[in-house]
Amino acid sequence: MGALDWFWKAMGSSSERNDKKSKSIATGAGELVAELSALNDADLAARARSCAAGGELKDKSTFLACLAVAAERKLGLAPFHVQSQAVLRLLEGDVIQMATGEGKTLVGAMAATGFALTGKRVHVVTVNNYLAQRDAEWMRPLVETFGLSVASVTEKLSADKRREAYRSDIIYAPVNELGFDVLRDNQIISREQTVQAPADVALVDEADSVLVDEALVPLVLAGSRKGDAPTGHITNVVSRLREELDYTISQDGRTVTLTDAGAHRVEHELGIDSLYSEDNIGTVLVKVNLALHAKALLIRDIHYIVNEGELQLIDASKGRVADLQRWPDGLQAAVEAKEGLEVSEGGRILDTITLQELMRRYPTVCGMTGTAVEATDQLRQFYDLHVSVIDRNNPLQRFDEQDRVYATMAEKNKAIVAEIQALNATGQPVLVGTQDVAESEDLAEALAELGIEVNVLNAKNDEEEARIIAEAGDEGRVTVSTQMAGRGTDIKLGGADESDRAAVVERGGLAVLGTSRHRTARLDNQLRGRSGRQGDPGLSLFFVSLEDDLVVQGGEDDSLVFNPGEDGRIESKRVNAFVAHCQRVTEGQLLEIHAQTWKYNQLLADQRIIIDKRRANLLDTDPAWKELAQRAPQRAAELADVPEAAKVAAAREIMLFHLDLSWADHLELMDDVRESIHLRAIARETPIDEYHRIAVREFKELAQRAVDDSVETFNTVQINENGAHLDDSGLARPSATWTYMVSDNPLAGSGNSVIGGIGNLFR
Ligand code: ADP
Repeated sequence: MGALDWFWKAMGSSSERNDKKSKSIATGAGELVAELSALNDADLAARARSCAAGGELKDKSTFLACLAVAAERKLGLAPFHVQSQAVLRLLEGDVIQMATGEGKTLVGAMAATGFALTGKRVHVVTVNNYLAQRDAEWMRPLVETFGLSVASVTEKLSADKRREAYRSDIIYAPVNELGFDVLRDNQIISREQTVQAPADVALVDEADSVLVDEALVPLVLAGSRKGDAPTGHITNVVSRLREELDYTISQDGRTVTLTDAGAHRVEHELGIDSLYSEDNIGTVLVKVNLALHAKALLIRDIHYIVNEGELQLIDASKGRVADLQRWPDGLQAAVEAKEGLEVSEGGRILDTITLQELMRRYPTVCGMTGTAVEATDQLRQFYDLHVSVIDRNNPLQRFDEQDRVYATMAEKNKAIVAEIQALNATGQPVLVGTQDVAESEDLAEALAELGIEVNVLNAKNDEEEARIIAEAGDEGRVTVSTQMAGRGTDIKLGGADESDRAAVVERGGLAVLGTSRHRTARLDNQLRGRSGRQGDPGLSLFFVSLEDDLVVQGGEDDSLVFNPGEDGRIESKRVNAFVAHCQRVTEGQLLEIHAQTWKYNQLLADQRIIIDKRRANLLDTDPAWKELAQRAPQRAAELADVPEAAKVAAAREIMLFHLDLSWADHLELMDDVRESIHLRAIARETPIDEYHRIAVREFKELAQRAVDDSVETFNTVQINENGAHLDDSGLARPSATWTYMVSDNPLAGSGNSVIGGIGNLFR
């Protein structure tokens, strides 16, 4: 737990009471199972429904027993006592911590069924398409027993199919698809085009990933438009700058700053007076900064790869290629220019929403994960969520070895290879968690040279990954994977069919090795959790070097004395404690960045709510025609012959068009302001206040401008029985739209690059 230990201790009594209550209800359910097993499906469903009459779950024991009977009958899974407890905590709106392999999929489906029986529509939020589909199909027989409908929404589904799916009681969908549908639904011009039906509950799988790690990731809806290509000249000039002389990189590797000499050099080569002049600060300087950022901070094969002439981002928290992700437009173009690739069409951003903002739209949020406790502070601070820890069904048999610390990275790497070789020689399966794709590949190469066959997981698709990871527990396997690849898939000992289980158990189960400690203990524990499921034997072990980023960035301690052994290993309690300290420092920094970025996002989130309301009002009622006719009575009179319905639709389309355009402009402007605020902050102004002041002022103008522009269009555009001919006046909506996620952080921190830069200022 974090800095709020004292607080949680004080809170202990109430959560303990909840815990006791849940346990006794679950016990009560267990006693009813035998009796209810005698009921046929229809009677069972009726019994469960009667527990949920009036939109509230009354007799929870009976309700749980009905679900347990159905789960055993339809899925062949009789819920464990702890699973029933977990269901209750979810129904109370908590985030539950349940270890990997304890059966969260069933728990989630039972809780979703409970919510649905009380008339609530539930979105079960998954981390990818593959899991959405798998879980919906797996759990379908259970849900349908109670006369409820279930569907999954995945990337490939057409708008019509989605619309149908969203009408179900329970919808499994990856978080980005849910967000993209929200964004697309905010571009429609008549109500029947709406795709997503409102939901009451978000039940989030891998809750810490979605709600914390990726909370600040913006989902983006963009529309076609020729992009503003960044000038090759600036890229060229910047490519010749030298580290230390012309620019410096902060120690945490998150910000790069031009030195005075560097600035002079750029000014000289570009033939301009000053980068910081009023004329240049918002244009040339921004481009120079982007180019510099691309050159100095974004490293090929760590932050991105180049594949067939295209740039593909690597998702920092998963360490794998993120197909849907782009950097903010300017940065993407800057990296493309740096690599000499064709600069992709920019398009324009129509709308964006962060995962955090998306999740906060649901009246009820609850979730499940193997690692919630370490995210307690964030879940409380950002979502007002409480964490409930659910006991394991079988005691943990995994042995967590103390970190092995080495003086240098080279010595550490050598030790890792040697350890894998030793484990592999005994036939024990090994899963190695690396920090990034480049490291995975280096390691795989080193092992291949020793004749060890390795399965590397990084850039493959989710389904393929799931298949490989499911086999990671087989005898003699070595699997190398970046952090999250294949998450959500069970690793059974002896292979997916468990045929070699006895042999693997005898060899000690799955050994999980971490090639360094992660930015947070939570990420470490996610990796550890892949071993030791349901009472299986297992081993976890992390390697650390004093040259690791975490240690270099996390702190200094001159008083540390140590004598590395011949192989570079340092065996000292104080050094181990120091590594833990460095991790806590980094955790604190991440929390601070999150909190600060949240402040930046919050104002826009509030403004979006106002825009959403206005939009809904324009869509569902007819104020548009009235407003426009009042503002331009002469024009209204000219249209006397046009049928009423066509006039109303035309007015609506015009007002929606300008509302959406103004909002997109607003987002773009505020994005620029964020960047220049970062520059202004160097001049010691308080950036957040300044940002707020501008956002409020601009938002007021936005509203006025949207109306003024609508009146102007109303006066000039052709309107007849077919509605308003916006296309003829060059006011068409983009003919094509596409969606993507902005990389959660090119710099292995949190937030995107620009946000990272801002975060920095507050330390
Ligand atoms: P988690 O998501 O918590 O890691 P899963 O939902 O993938 O776990 O379930 C892990 C495994 O446990 C699955 O193979 C599932 O079939 C099995 N399982 C879950 N609940 C039960 C149960 N009550 N009885 C027997 N097996 C179960």
